[in-house]
Formats: sequence, structure tokens, C-alpha cells
Amino acid sequence: MNSDWDVIVVGAGPGGSSAAYGLAKAGLRVLLLEKEKIPRYKACGGGLTAKVRAALDFDFSPTIEDTIHQASVAFGPERTRIGATAWCVMRDKFDALLAARAASAGAELRDAQPVSRVSFENGSVQVESRSGAERAKFVIGADGVNGIVRRAAGFPAHQRMAAALEAEMDAPTAALDEWHGALHLDFGAIAWGYAWIFPKAEHLSVGIGDLFRIGGRADLRAALQRYVASEPSLHDAKTRFTRGHRVPLGGEFATYHVPRAVLVGDAAGLVDPFTAEGIYYAIRSGQIAAEEVGRAFARGDFDLVEYTRRINREINSDFRYAWALTQVFYRMPHLAYRIFARSAGTQSAVTDVAEGGLTYLQMLGRVAQSLVRSLVKR
Ligand SMILES: Cc1cc2nc3c(=O)[nH]c(=O)nc-3n(C[C@H](O)[C@H](O)[C@H](O)COP(=O)(O)OP(=O)(O)OC[C@H]3O[C@@H](n4cnc5c(N)ncnc54)[C@H](O)[C@@H]3O)c2cc1C
Repeated sequence: MNSDWDVIVVGAGPGGSSAAYGLAKAGLRVLLLEKEKIPRYKACGGGLTAKVRAALDFDFSPTIEDTIHQASVAFGPERTRIGATAWCVMRDKFDALLAARAASAGAELRDAQPVSRVSFENGSVQVESRSGAERAKFVIGADGVNGIVRRAAGFPAHQRMAAALEAEMDAPTAALDEWHGALHLDFGAIAWGYAWIFPKAEHLSVGIGDLFRIGGRADLRAALQRYVASEPSLHDAKTRFTRGHRVPLGGEFATYHVPRAVLVGDAAGLVDPFTAEGIYYAIRSGQIAAEEVGRAFARGDFDLVEYTRRINREINSDFRYAWALTQVFYRMPHLAYRIFARSAGTQSAVTDVAEGGLTYLQMLGRVAQSLVRSLVKR
């Protein structure tokens, strides 16, 4: 049968644009449909780790708001600064760049096109949006945590759902200077989560997440207000606006494909269950989706089982250890913070895992070794 497109990608976040970029570069006819007008705001700290830089084959530096050299890890007033490499972006500009890269590779990008229906019929996928119905051989669900493709393709609801809230705040120059170059994470601000201050070129992104207590329903607005009141550098800051968003955590071996469809990024539920980092995993799963859909296309079949296998092997197998670490760390965050603050070995293991140099399993081994060494010394 004839289809208008080889692949329709629903959602032009980091996951969808990465998938569309890979598929278009491979020569497939790709339609990328985005609900919002691009550039669009996304509630997100916009913290990018070195893993993101390694994953992208183009330069995202025009979108960098601040280059990070330090992580400031805190439990309330107790603070430890360690060296770290990361970048802060605003997601409207960063995501617009990724979408533009997909378009320049050959994907047709249509924004302000909310997809309202996805159906699998007569040997093709039919996708309806404001501009009408389009048919494709494959569809990629990259439409985020509340995505329509997940439901249409019959996947079960997300299992581990968290939530986070972010305020974009104008702050006096002294506060901007204090946080310039540093990501601040405070593990004393909320149970089973953390608060953050991520510096942007001319403002601060300040947020809080009830991240790792499944079904946890903290009053995030009240928690964010308490945090801002408790943080001296934010006393004269003014909130531009506040937005919340759900955060679907990964770490469970699940199925991410059906014939003709795969889910990527938040639509698949692939957020790191220890740090809540999601951008890298959206990009990486989008890239894997492009490879596996491209292979199925070349074979002339619609079997995408290898996509699920790779997501479970390359992402979820290590997330299981991240989840185990979460169960210990966030159950006793003050003790965990103190161990972190006193152990250089633990600090370097944590930064190595954040930057992609170690897996969580390897990190747990290094932390255990360094704890044993410090006990022996004593
Ligand atoms: C407050 C907060 C802070 C965070 N901070 C960080 C951080 O600092 N670093 C980090 O790595 N991760 C962070 N995350 C996680 C990160 O934001 C997500 O994991 C990431 O955005 C996932 O990318 P994605 O492409 O899968 O989905 P999204 O970025 O959600 O993109 C999905 C896209 O699909 C579009 N869409 C939705 N429905 C439709 C439809 N029906 N039709 C067409 N298009 C549709 C949406 O408009 C959107 O553009 C944070 C999350 C939250 C909530």
C-alpha cells in the first residue's frame, strides 16, 4: 500500500527531533508534527550533562545560557561545592535548534499541529492533526508524558510517575553572580526529591520535585514557596511565572514497541530514577528509534522488537541500580548528604556517573570501595 510518509514523528521535543533527524539523514520521508508553535516553553531546569554533548553530532553552543563548572550540593544550609561540567539552556531555544536540525536534514516540520488521533488501520498508521490526516508506514510517539500515541497504540499507563514545579525568576545581580557557573541541588528541601537553582543568562530557574516517592503528592507550590523563603539568595527575586509538569521515571523492563510504532523519551517513561535527568535519555532513545525503524524499513517488515531490547539493555538495565540507589539515598537524605560531603571518592563517582564516564553499577562499586577505605583509615 502507498503511504504519504515513511515515518510520522509526533512531538518535536528532544526525543522526537532526534528521531526525525536520524531518519531524515538516512533518507526516509519524515513528517515531524508538533502541537505548539516553535519555539515553545517547557517546564525544565534545562540542565544538560556531558552525555548530551557526546550524543549530539552538532554544536548546541548558540543555545547555552550558562556554562557550568561546579555543582553545589546542599542539605539546607550545609553545602558542598564540587567540580562538574554541564550547560544550562532554555528549552524553547534548545528544542527549536534540534527541530531545525531535523528539518535541515530533510524532515518536514509542521508546528502548531496538535495530533488528535492516531489509528492503525489497513496496513498503515493514520495520524490526524489540524492540517488533516496523513498516513505513514511507522509512527514514533515522542509526545511527552501525556502523549496520545501511547494510548492509541495500547500501551499501559506509566507506572512510576513523579512531578516537578519550576519558577523562572528575575534576581538581583548579586544573586545571578552567586549562581553563575554552578548548578545548585538542595536535598533537604523536600522528602524524596530536591530543589534546584539553575542559572540562565539573565535569570534563575528555580524548581522543586516530588520525584522518587511513587504516588507522592506533595503540595509543590507550598514547598517551592518555603524553599524560596529559606534560600537567602532568592529573597529579592521576583517570579515571572511558575509551571509544573509530570516526570515519568524509568528503570522497569517494559515494552516500548508494537508493530509500526515505538515510544521515545518521556512518552516511553525514560527519566533517570535517581537524578530525574530526562533530556539525554529522550535524545538517546530517539536516536535508537531512528536506527531500529530505519532497519525495519530496510528489511521491509514492521517488527520493532529490537528497539525494546536496546532500550532495556542500554538504558533500563543500569536504571535498575539508579532506582536501588534512590531507595537508600532518599530514605535517609541527610546521612547520605553527609557521606557525600566527606568522601572525595563518592563525589568523584557521582560526577563521573552524571557525565557518563561510569554506569550506576560501577558507581555503586566505587562508592562502596571508598566507604570501606575511609572506615579502615579510621
Ligand atoms: C520541572 C522539570 C525540570 C526538569 N529539569 C530537567 C533538567 O534540568 N535536565 C534534564 O535532563 N531533564 C529535566 N527534566 C526532564 C525533561 O524535561 C524531560 O525528560 C524531557 O523534556 C523529555 O523530552 P521528550 O522529547 O521526551 O518530551 P518533551 O520535551 O515533553 O516533548 C514532547 C513534545 O511533544 C509535543 N506534543 C505533546 N502532545 C502532542 C500532540 N498531541 N501532538 C503533537 N505534539 C505533541 C509537546 O508540545 C512537546 O513539544 C525536567 C522535567 C521537569 C518537569
